[in-house]
Amino acid sequence: MPFVGELKDRLWPLVKRGRLERDRLLGGNCVVLLYHRVIDLEHDPQLLSVSPRRFDEQLVLIKERYRVLSVEEFEHHLLNRKRFPKNSILITFDDGYADNHVHARPILEKHGLQALFFIASGYIGSGREYWWDELERLFLLNPQVPVQLDVEAGGVKVQWASLPGRELLRSHYEQLLVSLRALPSGTRDGLLGALRDRMSSPLARPSHLPMDHAALKAFASSPSVVIGAHTVGHPSLGQIGEDEQREEITRSKRDLEEWLGMPITRFAYPFGTPSDFTERTMQITREAGFLHAAANHPGIAHARSPHFAYQRLLVRDWGGAEFLRHLSPYLW
Ligand SMILES: [Zn+2]
Repeated sequence: MPFVGELKDRLWPLVKRGRLERDRLLGGNCVVLLYHRVIDLEHDPQLLSVSPRRFDEQLVLIKERYRVLSVEEFEHHLLNRKRFPKNSILITFDDGYADNHVHARPILEKHGLQALFFIASGYIGSGREYWWDELERLFLLNPQVPVQLDVEAGGVKVQWASLPGRELLRSHYEQLLVSLRALPSGTRDGLLGALRDRMSSPLARPSHLPMDHAALKAFASSPSVVIGAHTVGHPSLGQIGEDEQREEITRSKRDLEEWLGMPITRFAYPFGTPSDFTERTMQITREAGFLHAAANHPGIAHARSPHFAYQRLLVRDWGGAEFLRHLSPYLW
């Protein structure tokens, strides 16, 4: 019945809009922005970077037009189910790239703004690139791809018998982004290690490193920075076993608390889409002693938002007008 499908397609945006209006009326509206990197990059297949110039421009705009909350103000509203101020904003960052300290922090400080940074603790001081960046280096930027390859771990196989062309490498990259996401961190790192050895690309790019311990410590001492956890090895929690989830969640908290000497009570699910965490993941996160956890699908935070799955809006390298256009459905 194509008519029913068509009707549903037409109605769905209206239903969504209606829910948004209802949430905003009852609970106020806060847009939680999600950034990853602030740096100029030539090659950024995941579109994770915002240039320092554009980040500065975006902060100027939100400061002028909206109410940017501190982490404490955000929590006060979320945890006490209080109505959020109209058109408020919270800035968050995921992962813990070194550029957060080098580029993002000084720009936040210049504007007197604060952001919540979720750190994948296993990468801090590792000298390794995050696993998706390593895949990019090995498959998309590698001048020395071997003629033959046969590597396998955790049911994921990468294999070819003659020198692969650019297109085949791109398709391996795309597939591995999906299949490695679902592996426990240890299994995935085993496979990556084997690929690194076989593909003659052992060195991490300095532009793609996570912070080291000293940088993280200096970073965390800024009034513009609040630290939260983001697992140890950045797997998709909803796709790994319960014990592995618990270990990822509790160890990242313990690592950061030990290094920084402060309680770590905020969490964000890696990737954060609805398939990357389950009800059980939310429960484990709560039991581990976190106060709230961030997801990653667009919407507003409001007084009745779930504490363990509040929504965030992913920000790309947008100029001012485009940035405001992406914010506009959530602000009034
Ligand atoms: Zn992440």
